Amino acid sequence: MPSYVVRFTLLLAALIVLGGSALVGLAVAERYYVRQTNIQSDATLRLAASGLSGALQKFESVPKLLADHPSVRSLLDGSATASDLDALNEKLKSVASEVGASDIYVLNATGLAIAASNFDKETTFIGNYYTFRPYYSDAMQGNQGRYYALGTSSQKRGFYFSEPVMLDGSPIGVLAVKFTVDELELKWNGFNHDLIVTDPDGIIFMSSRSDWLFSAINPLSHETLSRLRDSKRYPVDQLTSLGATYTEGTNEARLTFSQDLGGAEYLVRSQFMPEANWTLHILTDRSLVFRQSVQATLIAGLIVLLITILTIALLAWRSRQAQHIREQEEAKLLLEERVAERTSDLQREIGERIQAERDLRKAQNELVQAGKLAALGQMSAALSHELNQPLSAVKSYADNAGAFLDRNRPDDAKANLSHISALTDRMAQISNSLRNFARKPREQIGLVSLAAVLKDVEQIMVGRLTETKATLRVSPVVSDLTVIGGHVRLQQVLVNLVNNALDAMEGQPDPTVEITVIDTAEQVDIRVKDHGRGIDDDIFEQIFDPFFTTKGVNQGLGLGLSISFNILRDFGGNLSATNNPEGGAVFIATLVKPIMDQEAAE
Ligand code: ADP
Repeated sequence: MPSYVVRFTLLLAALIVLGGSALVGLAVAERYYVRQTNIQSDATLRLAASGLSGALQKFESVPKLLADHPSVRSLLDGSATASDLDALNEKLKSVASEVGASDIYVLNATGLAIAASNFDKETTFIGNYYTFRPYYSDAMQGNQGRYYALGTSSQKRGFYFSEPVMLDGSPIGVLAVKFTVDELELKWNGFNHDLIVTDPDGIIFMSSRSDWLFSAINPLSHETLSRLRDSKRYPVDQLTSLGATYTEGTNEARLTFSQDLGGAEYLVRSQFMPEANWTLHILTDRSLVFRQSVQATLIAGLIVLLITILTIALLAWRSRQAQHIREQEEAKLLLEERVAERTSDLQREIGERIQAERDLRKAQNELVQAGKLAALGQMSAALSHELNQPLSAVKSYADNAGAFLDRNRPDDAKANLSHISALTDRMAQISNSLRNFARKPREQIGLVSLAAVLKDVEQIMVGRLTETKATLRVSPVVSDLTVIGGHVRLQQVLVNLVNNALDAMEGQPDPTVEITVIDTAEQVDIRVKDHGRGIDDDIFEQIFDPFFTTKGVNQGLGLGLSISFNILRDFGGNLSATNNPEGGAVFIATLVKPIMDQEAAE
């Protein structure tokens, strides 16, 4: 499955879980706040109910006290005079004002008001019949009457208490006390809730909201309406429907207004007050509860979100740490593996090298051995060649000398003997050359004046140069030019090179050998140049080998260049050869110059 589909599915699942949790959270919060609101409402309800009960109790005893008063009874039994009536009216007025009642009045047996605290007002009850009021009929039956209604004269809502005025055990009239409920309602302004009082028909008789007055919380039937019309309790034409639905559940009641009236919903808590036969309700706007629930859910959601983010961040951090540690361990393992691999490679390489070195040494030893044998072979061949030839000559000269003496030719024998002497000289020379080749030099290596060496070479060569009619040209050299070496051996090398040059030009007219000295910062090159036949390419590699010679019998041993090469090597220098483009060979003897610093000079 593509990764974006997985991500989208996960996101959708997370959103569903989140939305579901939010709804559940909201429901839980709402239930909690409804419960809290109910607890609070119940407390307020109890307070308001006890306030109402207190007010009722306050007026409850007043009618009883006044009904027993002689002036009231005398008015009803007809014994009172006009002035007694005036006095009673005044008394009722003062009592009413003292106890806070709106009206106190006396009804005779026919229900006609004959005395009243409002005797002096235009809206006085005196002269009105109150037969239709239940508190009148209740009292005339010898009972205490309680009733609430909108006053027909005052148009004020009032609560009525009545007491029968008894004479000889029978009621002869009624004493009624009315107080208005307006002031009680005013006290409800301090509450945060709306309060209403409904009668058994569900008509709102008291309310903290004046627009709800005389509205029925439930629809009123025709029978109820006609009954209410007959009782004159309320002006039936003013009765309206509240436009709300009152529903009562097991735990709570709700009052829901229709959408035309705003659709508000109230949580309702109620308490029935048997002393007045009415019900006190307390109403709380449900939107407030809902708002509180949403706020609580949001706060809880934010806290959960914060905890989730922190948890995710912590988990991510821990996983990153773990990843980091894993990577480090992997890198360490990799490094250790590489080190182990490299170590074993190195060990193998070392082993191979040791083996290769062993093989090389073995091969070298074998070569040296082979070289030694070859050199010995070469030398033996050369020596036997060089010595056999004069030896056989010596033998024949000696044999001939004997024969000459037998024939008495002493002069010829003498000549043969001198030949023998010359040949032994030659053999001694050969033996000397060999000794020089093998011998270790006794001469120390040190600073040698090049000018002095060259001068000696010129002197040594005088005899041969004269003999061969050759010329030796030596380039001038500064007298203090010194090189590292040995005077005699350097001289031997140069004499050898000049002799070879003269050999190469044998038979040429005006043979000339040129010695040139090239002085550079670190070394001195002595170039010995001739105009002979030069060195053939095919023998270039071999001319420095011992016993290599192209010269004829009795003319060369092939040791000159080999000895010279080794001498110059001993001096830290070198001997090399090249052909001159104009013809002839050039041999270059390279010598090292001493380091001339101030200290050495001193
Ligand atoms: P030898 O002189 O006894 O032959 P060297 O070692 O001095 O031995 O020389 C070896 C060979 O090098 C010579 O036989 C010759 O072939 C070659 N050679 C030496 N010097 C010269 C030269 N100046 N010109 C040509 N060939 C030379």
